[in-house]
Amino acid sequence: MCGAGSRRIHSRYVRQVADLPCAGKEVRLRVITRRFVCEVPHCRRRIFAERFGDRVVADRSRRTARLEYIVHHLGLALGGRPAASFAKRLMLRVSNDTLLRVVRRRTCGRIEPLVVAGIDDWAFRRNHRYGTIVCDLERRRIVALLPDREIATVRAWLCEHPEIRIVSRDRGGGYGEAAAKALPDAIQVADRWHLMENASAAFLEAVRRSMREIRAALGATRINPELLTCAERLQYEGYLRREQTNAAIIALVRDGVSLKEIVRRTAHSRKLVRQVSRGESTDIFRTRQSTLDAHLPFLDAQWAEGCRNSAELWRRLQVQGYQGSLRVVSEWMTRRRRAERATNQQLQKVPSARTISRLMTTARDHLSKAETITIAAIEACIPTLVEARKLVERFQAMLRQRLVADLDSWIAIASTSLIASFANGIIKDKAAVCAAITESWSNGQTEGQITKLKLVKRQMYGRAKIDLLQARLIGAA
Ligand SMILES: [Zn+2]
Repeated sequence: MCGAGSRRIHSRYVRQVADLPCAGKEVRLRVITRRFVCEVPHCRRRIFAERFGDRVVADRSRRTARLEYIVHHLGLALGGRPAASFAKRLMLRVSNDTLLRVVRRRTCGRIEPLVVAGIDDWAFRRNHRYGTIVCDLERRRIVALLPDREIATVRAWLCEHPEIRIVSRDRGGGYGEAAAKALPDAIQVADRWHLMENASAAFLEAVRRSMREIRAALGATRINPELLTCAERLQYEGYLRREQTNAAIIALVRDGVSLKEIVRRTAHSRKLVRQVSRGESTDIFRTRQSTLDAHLPFLDAQWAEGCRNSAELWRRLQVQGYQGSLRVVSEWMTRRRRAERATNQQLQKVPSARTISRLMTTARDHLSKAETITIAAIEACIPTLVEARKLVERFQAMLRQRLVADLDSWIAIASTSLIASFANGIIKDKAAVCAAITESWSNGQTEGQITKLKLVKRQMYGRAKIDLLQARLIGAA
């Protein structure tokens, strides 16, 4: 303690230290340790033992430093129990508890300052419990795991790190608010991937809202129940019931009856009544998609050639790569015959909103002939939908090409279009969206770290406490 040297030996004792195995045998070192007497008069430590340096054997350690290093990394890579059984094969005698203890103990606090932070949430258990992950985007490392995603928790953590200059976060409001309160001077960056995703989702929503017009455009507004499959007929009846309900509610609204009274009279939920009265009910009926859909042109052609034998048709379809059963084909044939008798026109299928949205955007260059006709009909009749698509494309181009100057004019047009609610979201979060266009930081690598986190979490069969999870993830970096 005083730093003076001493040559006066007091006694010796033997320490047992485990070392790496050698030639298939466990190795145990018997280290004879000397105790010395301190001769400085006022020193508080009268007797002291010699040290061997942390790089050989740490003080009070039962293992040499090189063994401890391997034990630590086994624990990081495999967790407690699997690492213990693997260690046994390597002839290292450590228990699972020891492994985890070493992992926990050796997690060192970070030294470098955190300047660019990426924040996202991750699921302990999906839809049940979520935590927060904070990454150092400059060094590509996990910095901390927080036990939940509450604003207060994140805010408190951020307050302890005033050195953060840039916060990259997803588009949910929570992290933005926490960052704004804790670090008012930091730049917030909305995540580009989420922005892209939200833009696509906004277009899908626009298609959903336009489904009535789309049906009208495709001339499939009248449904002949005769031509539906059994399952479709059940759904169609439900659809008719819902339409009846909606008509009744709308009639009451028109008569000026209050919402509360309508709820009482019709015995429908308040939510439903409110939706219908605001015209938000976007219920449409469409026929189901079946395994035959892709082969309909071929079937039509065969039918036109005069093939009326369903078994024969099924065999020809199988050559074309069809994997469904004969029953599906013969049911199609029955309906086809009925259709011939009924209207002499083929069964018209309206694709789902999701399919239409895909056909109008990403798959636009690879449409089949039938799809091209469908999409052309939709585009000709519903110009607002085409406008919405152009706006979404322009927004995504803006993100890709870093055209921040375009944002204001884009917002001006978009806020009156079919994707107005998306545009309003952008207005509310405008600073962060601008930063997403100009800054190079993105949360992409945070998503990657979450993948790693999930792997480690599952290795421990979901029993890991957050401190151990954190120790394993940060220690491994
Ligand atoms: Zn001393």
